[in-house]
Amino acid sequence: MREDDRIAAIVPEVIGWRRAIHANPELGFAEYETAAFVAVKLKEFGLAVHTDVSATAVVATLTKGTSGKAIALRAELDALPIKEATGLAYASRKDGVMHACGHDGHTAILLGAAKLLAESDSFDGTVVFVFQPAEEVLGGGKRMIEDGLLKRFPVDQVFAIHNWPGFPEGHIGVRAGPQMAAVDDFEIVFRGSGCHAAMPHLGDDPLLAAASFVTAIQRLVSRSVDPLSPAVLSVTQIHGGRFNNFVPGEVKVEGTCRFYDRRLSDHCAAEIERVAQATAAMHGAAAALTYKRGYPPVVNPATGAALTALAGADTVGTERVATDFQPSMGCEDFAFLLQGVGDGAYVWIGAGDVGPGAGLHGDRFVFNDAVVPISIRFFLNVVQRALPAGGR
Ligand SMILES: [Zn+2]
Ligand SMILES: [Zn+2]
Repeated sequence: MREDDRIAAIVPEVIGWRRAIHANPELGFAEYETAAFVAVKLKEFGLAVHTDVSATAVVATLTKGTSGKAIALRAELDALPIKEATGLAYASRKDGVMHACGHDGHTAILLGAAKLLAESDSFDGTVVFVFQPAEEVLGGGKRMIEDGLLKRFPVDQVFAIHNWPGFPEGHIGVRAGPQMAAVDDFEIVFRGSGCHAAMPHLGDDPLLAAASFVTAIQRLVSRSVDPLSPAVLSVTQIHGGRFNNFVPGEVKVEGTCRFYDRRLSDHCAAEIERVAQATAAMHGAAAALTYKRGYPPVVNPATGAALTALAGADTVGTERVATDFQPSMGCEDFAFLLQGVGDGAYVWIGAGDVGPGAGLHGDRFVFNDAVVPISIRFFLNVVQRALPAGGR
């Protein structure tokens, strides 16, 4: 059978797996039934399956030929704490939990690719299939690396896809350089003595210090970051005070920074500390900063981006592969894997236009099953390009 026919033949089954996973979503690090489902399937296909690598992760290997080269392909197992409002026949049966990012689709697609690769001799090397827990917020990818994933399964390159609503259906997007942003969070507590609102001269007014900070920190992006290096800082929470007649002695300010250049993480931490201390000192108050480093940026190395652009052209034709587009200010745990391996790429599979509330993380998000055959073919083409049979 031709490869396209083999893919077409498996698509209904893959969509069935996708919908079964969709109906039974599980939150990060609690993907027990999803992981068990994936492990059973992979064993059925004849892969070597490992469930003792990290939390609920499922890792499987498939080796053909003797090249000794290895790549990893990643999918995510976790769902989101969102109440589904799609009204689909196969909608979530768990109240308040939903596959609203399409990880059900990514998992089913990678299973489909694993099945077809197990049956074929189209590559020479080892493919490591990584089904990771907790991509959303909790950093399951970081945890897998800390638990020794890459030492136990060393690979030369790592690849992942993400369905991308708003990107034309049937198109593939991969750019060399940043594709997703880094996210860091900060929390500052301004402290001083509180006082009666009618006698402000008897206190320090940390609330005024916090207000000064909110305006002063706007200089970070506009005055301290290279204007050609995208960055955004938003103050998102201010908490303090309980009464109209009393100036509080403690005010908490929280916010987030996003950027593409990973060096900006240290820069933002230092600059926020400096401005917090300076504004606190100006008001005779004290400031204590907690800076939380989140996901680093997803920065595709040129080699991995070039390979996936070629694999994308093999899949949908050169004219449907975009390599020059605006990256997203969203973030992605795959950054840790890509950084740990050092080569590979994160690739968008266009899912077409969607209505309000139906984008990623929307409660009316519906995974576009039309991307299933393209995505499977893309994974097969990546494997054939990265691990060519006959030493191409
Ligand atoms: Zn997501
Ligand atoms: Zn996602």
